[in-house]
Parts: sequence; C-alpha cells; structure tokens
Amino acid sequence: MIVLGGITPVLCTYRSELRFSSPSESPMSTSSCSSCTLSSSASVTLSGIIRCPSARKALVSLVFFVSSSVAYTRLLRNISTKKGKQKEEDSMPHFQIVFVLGGPGSGKGTQCETITTNFPTWTHLSAGDLLRAERQKSDSKLAEIINARILNGQIVPSEITVQLIKNAMEENYKEKRCTKFVIDGFPRSEENRTAWEDILGSSSTVEFVLYLDCPEEVMTERLLRRGQTSGRVDDNLEIMKKRFETSRKESMPMVELYESYGKLRTVKADRNVEEVYQEVSALFKDL
Ligand code: ADP
Ligand code: AMP
Repeated sequence: MIVLGGITPVLCTYRSELRFSSPSESPMSTSSCSSCTLSSSASVTLSGIIRCPSARKALVSLVFFVSSSVAYTRLLRNISTKKGKQKEEDSMPHFQIVFVLGGPGSGKGTQCETITTNFPTWTHLSAGDLLRAERQKSDSKLAEIINARILNGQIVPSEITVQLIKNAMEENYKEKRCTKFVIDGFPRSEENRTAWEDILGSSSTVEFVLYLDCPEEVMTERLLRRGQTSGRVDDNLEIMKKRFETSRKESMPMVELYESYGKLRTVKADRNVEEVYQEVSALFKDL
C-alpha cells in the first residue's frame, strides 16, 4: 500500500470534509471517516483515497488549489516583468534615424561628420567605429569575435552591433537629450535589419536611407590612400576585396529593399567632398 506522505499533512486541513470523528484527531489514528466505512488512516493512503468519496473530493480540491496557485504566481511574475520592461521603454524617447549605406570607402564617415557639424541636433554613430571601440576594450568578451569578422571582411553578428548602437543612442540621450541619429554602415544585411526591428523598431522612425553610390575602382583608390595613415588592419587590398564582396552580396539587397519602400535617397559619391555634401545636406534641411 502506498502512503501519500507528501500530501498527508495538507489533507489534514480538509478535516471537515473528511469528517473525522474528532477535529483534534491525528489522521493516522484509527478513527473512521463518517461518510464511508474506512478508518482515517486508510483514507490517507492512495487506495483509501480512491475508495473514500470525501477524501477523493478533498484531493481534487487540493490539486485544483495547487495548480491555480502556481498559475497565478506565474501570471504575476509575467506581469511584473512586462511592467518593468514597459517602464524602461516609457522612459526612452522616440528616436529619429537616418541610415547611411554605401560600399567601403564611399565617403559615409566623411559626409556624416560634416552633417553633424552643420546640423548639431543630429549625432553621428558609425557601426564600424563602435565595433572597433568595443574590440579595443581589454575586458570585452566580444573582442575575439569582432576581430575575426573584421579581418575576414565579414559582418559581425547583428545582436552585437545593434546592442552597441542602442547603448550609444541611450548614452547620447542621457547626456545630451539627443534623439536624432545618423547611423553609418547600417543595416548592412537582412540580419542587421531584422535585429534592428526587434530591438529598436518600435522606439524609432527611419526617416530615410542615404545611399552613397560609388564605383569600386574609386573606393579602392580611396581606401588604399586612407590605409597609409588610418592604421586600420582591413584597409589592404586582400581584405578590401572581401569587404566589397560582402557589400555586394549582403548590403546591396538592403539598398534595393529601402528603394522598394520609397525610403532610399541616392547620391552619386564619385565627386569631390563638397559636391557630394551639397546634395546630402539638402536632404537634412527638410527634416
Ligand atoms: P567610409 O566611411 O564610407 O568607409 P570614408 O568617409 O572614411 O569612407 O572615406 C574613405 C576615404 O576617402 C577617406 O580617406 C576620405 O578622406 C576619402 N574621401 C571621402 N569622401 C571623398 C570624396 N568625395 N572624394 C575623395 N576622397 C574622399
Ligand atoms: P566600416 O568602418 O564601415 O568600414 O566597417 C568595418 C568593419 O566593421 C566591416 O568590414 C564589418 O566587419 C564591421 N561592420 C561595420 N558595420 C557593420 C554592421 N552594420 N554589421 C556588422 N558588422 C559591421
């Protein structure tokens, strides 16, 4: 015979239902249940519970009570986590965003810097710069992954990039109350774009995507020249070829996607810096 040790003490709280002859009695005593012929010790064993209608009823009530309590506790925990998240989102403003795309060396960084000098309500964030800064941190667990991808001309996992952009946006908001960001080198892939949608999509509006259109031969020349002073490990011919390939395969589909949304603004970038800037700045005047 199996004795239900775990639930026996709880069953005792249903004494009125079990109707033992005396309320002070131990359920293990030999007195009998008044609704059937079983002794109370029998009614707290499995076969006793099955045979005794009152004990069966008590067990059903107990199971119902325990499962309701567990469900309720889970519900409360869920609500409080959601409330915490909601509070955090409420305290952040809605951001205005301009993404800047273009192959490596097309002049993204150069144009963004001039934009933020002349339109100081906008802050420039470069996905590449944020990744390089993270890589430099001595305590960064991500440094190895970032380094390997950059050296291969490949895209760094999107969660890392988007999280770094999000942190930078939040810091700028806390320090300067800045809500307008020009983000260069993003989104460089479909994975980039969906990670942005998941993490920042609801708290931001993408005003437009600026695409700096530049032939690879021109970009190659510029990068080789930049490589003489930049100290960047990826400004060399071998890695450059891989970066161009990644750009063609992964970033160009993003250019096409935003064009289909009517969000793309294309500027020919194989002209001198001032000429390119004339067209770029006109886009910001309307915002
Ligand atoms: P990206 O951020 O797209 O990689 P950068 O803005 O760093 O490109 O520009 C790459 C290099 O080309 C830099 O050395 C920069 O000074 C130079 N550069 C940028 N725009 C032009 C331009 N319109 N004409 C000539 N050189 C340029
Ligand atoms: P850039 O400074 O824009 O030339 O970028 C340098 C390198 O950083 C790229 O070759 C990628 O390895 C990485 N990187 C830059 N932007 C992104 C991005 N949006 N997503 C993932 N990796 C990126």
